[in-house]
Amino acid sequence: MLLFTPGPTPVPESVRLAMATPTLHHRTPEFEAIFKETRELLFNLFHTDEVIMLASSGTGAMEAAVTNLCHNTLLSVNAGKFGERFGKIALACGLNNVEIKHEWHTPASVEEVVEAVKANPSVDAVAIQVSESAGGLRHPVEAIAAAVKAINPEIMIIADGITAVGVEPIDVSNLDCLIAGSQKALMLPPGLAILGLSTEAIEKIGEGKGYYLNLASEIKKQSQNTTAYTAATTVIIGLGAVLKEIDAKGGIEKLYANTALRAEATAKALEALGLHIYPNSPALSMSTIVDENAKEIRDLLKSDFGVNVAGGQDHLKGKIFRINQMGLIEPYEMVASVNAVELAMAKLGRRTFDGTASRVFNEIYFKTILGSK
Ligand SMILES: *Cc1c(COP(=O)(O)O)cnc(C)c1O
Repeated sequence: MLLFTPGPTPVPESVRLAMATPTLHHRTPEFEAIFKETRELLFNLFHTDEVIMLASSGTGAMEAAVTNLCHNTLLSVNAGKFGERFGKIALACGLNNVEIKHEWHTPASVEEVVEAVKANPSVDAVAIQVSESAGGLRHPVEAIAAAVKAINPEIMIIADGITAVGVEPIDVSNLDCLIAGSQKALMLPPGLAILGLSTEAIEKIGEGKGYYLNLASEIKKQSQNTTAYTAATTVIIGLGAVLKEIDAKGGIEKLYANTALRAEATAKALEALGLHIYPNSPALSMSTIVDENAKEIRDLLKSDFGVNVAGGQDHLKGKIFRINQMGLIEPYEMVASVNAVELAMAKLGRRTFDGTASRVFNEIYFKTILGSK
């Protein structure tokens, strides 16, 4: 079975083997050396002033970012389940929330965020997904961040990059917090979340807020290559291994280029079958198709063709399917997947199978790869 859900994603073999080594105690020079090395590799990935690893799922990092960086009103963008979550976190933690809400295919615009910031002077942080996984859309986060900072540089910008860090380069110059999670683009088992922080964010954090998710305690400890509480040792060992695996496979820039090309070739291959891309501004992390037979196609992919893709949630349940593009994915696996979509459509009587999907994918992907050699 090919795992093509946009999280969890397959864990490379070298990484699984690295995590099979005997468990280390977290307060030892051996683990501190591993922590230090992984931390240095993370700085190369995030390009932020500080990076913090938390033993939690991605949502823990979202909550840590909101409680430590927002002291009054959080402006959040809800164009899907994960954007909605930022607002829920703010309210659950006793903060105010102003929400910009969109259907799950529509990204936020710079203008409406600027307007909302101007209309709500108590907003001291803005939270938004880089890639909103609910509908597979890309928000113009960098442009929004620049516009908000131009109004008031003290407003903190929290960017959820859980399905973006490791997928595409992100300009962090106007971001105060960039979040990643182990089980999505970083190809690891669940259990580790990472926050990249700006110097301004560290200043605002001050003494920190909360207890377990108090970022001040973690900043203090992690700059000394240890953690405030028990580290997620095994996943951190895996993270070091995955970042080295990316290097061994040609480096992060090559991964970004291959991901962008694979996402484009997949979209064109599926469109050539008469299918429609759901989001108005697709993220590179996943290919999202809206279709009246989405459920049937997804079921057939799994039962007949050995490809596991994700469906939709809430009001999009049964209406969309999402094919993962995150991680070190072999192009032949994607060829097999788009071919399986064509086979499923043939089984449903929607078209005669003629190999269009794999031909279009191959033409775009491999012509570009050959051309760039
Ligand atoms: C998966 C995901 C999350 C939540 O992460 P958990 O690890 O499930 O807590 C947050 N944001 C985005 C964009 C995601 O895709």
